[in-house]
Amino acid sequence: MNAIDEKLQPILSTVLHRNAGETEFHQAVQEVLESLGRVISKHPEYAEEALIERICEPERQIIFRVPWVDDNNDVQINRGFRVQFNSALGPYKGGLRFHPSVNVGIIKFLGFEQTFKNALTGMPIGGGKGGSDFNPRGRSDREIMRFCQSFMVELHRHVGEYTDVPAGDIGVGGREIGYMFGMYKRLTNRYEAGVLTGKGLSYGGSRARTEATGFGTVYFVERMLATTGTSFEGKRCVVSGSGNVAIYAMQKVMSFGGTVVACSDSDGYIVDENGIDLALVKEIKEVRRGRISEYAELKGDGVHYVKGGSIWDVPCEVALPCATQNELTGADAKTLVENGVIAVGEGANMPSTPDAVHVFQKAKVLFAPGKAANAGGVATSALEMQQNASRDSWSFAKTEERLAQIIHSIHDACAETADEYGAPGDYVLGANITGFVRVAEAMRALGVV
Ligand code: GLU
Repeated sequence: MNAIDEKLQPILSTVLHRNAGETEFHQAVQEVLESLGRVISKHPEYAEEALIERICEPERQIIFRVPWVDDNNDVQINRGFRVQFNSALGPYKGGLRFHPSVNVGIIKFLGFEQTFKNALTGMPIGGGKGGSDFNPRGRSDREIMRFCQSFMVELHRHVGEYTDVPAGDIGVGGREIGYMFGMYKRLTNRYEAGVLTGKGLSYGGSRARTEATGFGTVYFVERMLATTGTSFEGKRCVVSGSGNVAIYAMQKVMSFGGTVVACSDSDGYIVDENGIDLALVKEIKEVRRGRISEYAELKGDGVHYVKGGSIWDVPCEVALPCATQNELTGADAKTLVENGVIAVGEGANMPSTPDAVHVFQKAKVLFAPGKAANAGGVATSALEMQQNASRDSWSFAKTEERLAQIIHSIHDACAETADEYGAPGDYVLGANITGFVRVAEAMRALGVV
C-alpha cells in the first residue's frame, strides 16, 4: 500500500474525526489521498486554499424520513439520503441505492468516488449519491411505487436538471426511476426530463443506458488487455453479481469471445462450465425478480450452485466484480492470483478491499478500479441528459459508439497519467490523479466556495 504524504495526513485525520465510524468513506478517501502525494509535489498549488480538504467534505448532505404504507396497511418508516458532494464540474450526478445496508457513510463513499468518476468521463457533471435503507426484496410492485413516490415527495425539493440529477444504482432500475419521475412531474408540474436518468425509452430515456455500465467495464478491460497484446477471445471469466451491471458485462464478454462460467447473488453463486445461459439469467432476474439458485433448479445437470462461499474460488483468467463494495477480499485476491487471473475490472463501486488491490498490483495483474472501469453508466447518463436537452433521441449504435469512445479515452488518460507520474500500469493512481486534477482545476477557478 502507498503511504499518505505527510502534508496530507492532517486531512485524513480531519476526515476520520468528522465522519466517525463511516468506514467505507474512510477507505475511499484514504485510497485517493494515497495517490495525491505525487501530485502535490509536482503541483504544490493543489495543496493550497484547503482545496483537498474541501474535496473531501460534501457540499451538502440531506437526510430525511420516508413514511409509506405497506400492503398490510401498516405504516413503514425508512431513511432517505442525498449527498451532494461536489458541483465544480456540473450539477451533482449519481445514482440512488435502495438496500438495507445503506447509511450515510456508504452514500458518502459513493458520492466521493462518483465525483472523480464523473470527472474522468470528461462530461460536465459533478458528483452526488443518494438512496435509502429500504429493502425492495419481496416487496410488491404497489409497495415499490408507494415507497418511490414518498421518497420523491421529499427529494424533489433538492433536485433538478441544473441542480442534481439522480439515476439508479443497486435496487433502483427503470421501474423505480419511472415511479419517481411520475411523482416529480406531478409535484412540479414540469416535464423536466433531464432531472433523472435511466428513464424508460417511452418517456425520454436513452438507448444503451441499461447496458452501459456492464458494457463499459468490458470495453475498459478489453483496452487494458490490448496493452499486453491480448483480448477476451477464448478467456475464462467470472462475473460476480447478476444485476444490471453483471448481466450486460457478461453479454459483452461473450460478444468479445470470452466464456463466463460463474455469476452470483447475495445468497450464493452458480458455476456453468458450458458458459452461463444469459437469457435464463435475464429471465430469472429481470422478469421473475427471483434468485440465482433458480438457475441451477431450471437448468439441472452440469450446473453447480454454491450457497454462501466465495465466487472467487472459481478459477478464471479475467475477474469482473460487479456486485457490491468490499466483496473481494485479500484472501480472494490471493486465490485468484494462484489460479492464474491476468486481469480484474471493477464493475461495482470499490468491490475490492485495499488488501485485495495490493495483492493484484504486487502480482502485476492488470487492475481496473471502479471509478474508471464502471464510468460507462454515468457517462451514458450524461448522454441521456444531452439528448433530453436537445429534445433528441439517438440510435443504439450511435449511443454505444459514444460510450466506447468515452471509455477508451478514460483508459488512455489513466494509462498516460500513470506513466507521467512514474507508475506505468497503475490504473488506480492514474484514475485518482486524472479525476482529481480535473476537479481541482475547476475548483481553483471558482474560488473558495
Ligand atoms: N449508479 C451508477 C454509478 O455508480 C450510475 C450513476 C448515474 O448514472 O448517475 O456510477
